Amino acid sequence: MNPSEWIDIKEGDGHPVEHFVIPPHYSKDLDRVLVSHGLIRDRVEKLAHLIAKDSSKPLVACCVLKGAHVFFAQLMENLKKLKNAEGKSIPLSFEFIKAKSYENDKSSGQIKLSLSEEDLKSFKGKDLLIVEDIVDTGRTMVALVERLKQYEPASVRVVSLLLKKTDRSNRYVPDYVGFAIPDLFVVGYCLDYNEYFRDLDHIAVISEHGKKAYAV
Ligand code: 5GP
Repeated sequence: MNPSEWIDIKEGDGHPVEHFVIPPHYSKDLDRVLVSHGLIRDRVEKLAHLIAKDSSKPLVACCVLKGAHVFFAQLMENLKKLKNAEGKSIPLSFEFIKAKSYENDKSSGQIKLSLSEEDLKSFKGKDLLIVEDIVDTGRTMVALVERLKQYEPASVRVVSLLLKKTDRSNRYVPDYVGFAIPDLFVVGYCLDYNEYFRDLDHIAVISEHGKKAYAV
C-alpha cells in the first residue's frame, strides 16, 4: 500500500469533544476527537477490501492483544463477506498474540510471545495477517515479524489501523495502514492509557487532566 493511500491526519486536526457522545466519566480527560468511530468503521471496511483483493489462499489472522481486538473483530466481520481477485471467498482462521517487548533502555528488539511453541510451529507454510492497533517506533512489529518468520510461514503481511508519524520511528511501514497520525498519545477504540479508555468508541487525544487522573 502506497503512503498516498493512507488517510493522513495532520497536527491540529480533530474535533471538539462536545461534538460527540463521550462516556461522561471521560468528560475532562480528552483534548479532542482525532478519528470518529464512524470514520474508523468506514476505513476498516476499505482495509478489508484491499486485503481481500491481495489474498489468494486461506489466511491465518493474528490479533495482537489487547489493543487490536476491536479492530480485529470489525476487520474480520468485513473480510469474511468479501471475495478475492479471483472471485473466491477467503477461508479465515484466528490466532491471538500477546506481544510484550522486553523493556530496557537499549531495547534489544526481542519480544515475548504468549503463543506456545506448538502454535508457532503450526504457522509453517501458512499466509499470516498480523492485525495491530498502532505502530509507533516500529520496534514491536519488527521484532514480532522477525520472530514469526523463524517458523517459516509462506507469507507475513501486517495491517495496522494507525501509524504514528514520529522521529523515533525505525522506518518500519506496515503493508496496510488505516490512518497516519501525528506524534500524540491517543486512546479509544480499545487503545488504552493504563487500561483506561478502552471503552471509548472514538480515537481521541488524551488531555493533561486525563494523564494525571489515570497515572499509575
Ligand atoms: P512501537 O513503539 O513498538 O511501535 O509500539 C509499541 C506499542 O506501544 C503499541 O503496540 C501500543 O500498544 C503502544 N503505543 C504506542 N503509541 C501509542 C499511543 O499513542 N496510544 C496507545 N494507547 N498506545 C500506544
